[in-house]
Amino acid sequence: MKIEILTLFPEMFETFKSSSIVGRAVEKKLISIQTHNIRGFSDNKHKQADDYPYGGGAGMVLMPQPVSDAFRYVFSRYSEEQKPMVIYLSPQGKVLTQKLARQLSKETALILLCGHYEGIDQRAIDRFVDMEVSIGDYVLTGGELPAMVLTDCIVRLIPGVLGSSESIVEESHSAGLLEYPQYTRPAVYDGDAVPEVLLSGNHKEIEKWRRMQSLKNTLQKRPDLLDKAVLTTEDLSMLKELKNSL
Ligand code: SAM
Repeated sequence: MKIEILTLFPEMFETFKSSSIVGRAVEKKLISIQTHNIRGFSDNKHKQADDYPYGGGAGMVLMPQPVSDAFRYVFSRYSEEQKPMVIYLSPQGKVLTQKLARQLSKETALILLCGHYEGIDQRAIDRFVDMEVSIGDYVLTGGELPAMVLTDCIVRLIPGVLGSSESIVEESHSAGLLEYPQYTRPAVYDGDAVPEVLLSGNHKEIEKWRRMQSLKNTLQKRPDLLDKAVLTTEDLSMLKELKNSL
């Protein structure tokens, strides 16, 4: 997947692009991430990219010219059939979920537009944007952190990026439930022991314990998710047991 990011702050992506799982995916050539500085496309001699809002009000607005020219430049490198999907990171967008990330992970190319200040001139949004995506109901200073959140979330769903496909299957939100608690060595830390079943080597029992813990976590932390989760009759009887014990 090719990810093209239009931003006023490309330097914010430098560490992100080369670290951890995203960095490994770039190295393995499973994805490429290219940033484009919107300011560089300004035809103003001072490379001005923002201006005061018409009608008054606080803050500055990104001008349509540099944003549009940045889009035109990126599009010129793709054929009509390969045209990337354009996403504007915006607090007004569709709220990001694992389901949306899964859907977007199937695209071959994405352009992520990061706003700043008060946002972007609506004419550029109307002309180029296919979808607005929000990372939650709160307002950040710019679209750079949301673009990183979205990229990270999508990239780990691309086949071959994570070491084992199982890590995705059991992760919170993937199967509609939250994940079970995880433990690593030592078996006893500061007097606290790891649940015995995890040391038993009995995979069937471990699986059953994890399912129970997953249901318990979801019931305690996000009971709303249970309404949409696909549950077996065994799950339902475990849930009944949990509800009686809590
Ligand atoms: N005035 C805008 C409004 O009320 O809708 C908010 C502008 S915000 C300060 C500046 C930029 O940050 C936005 O253009 C957007 O790119 C980004 N941004 C802020 N909060 C966001 C969120 N929750 N999700 C995605 N992007 C966000």
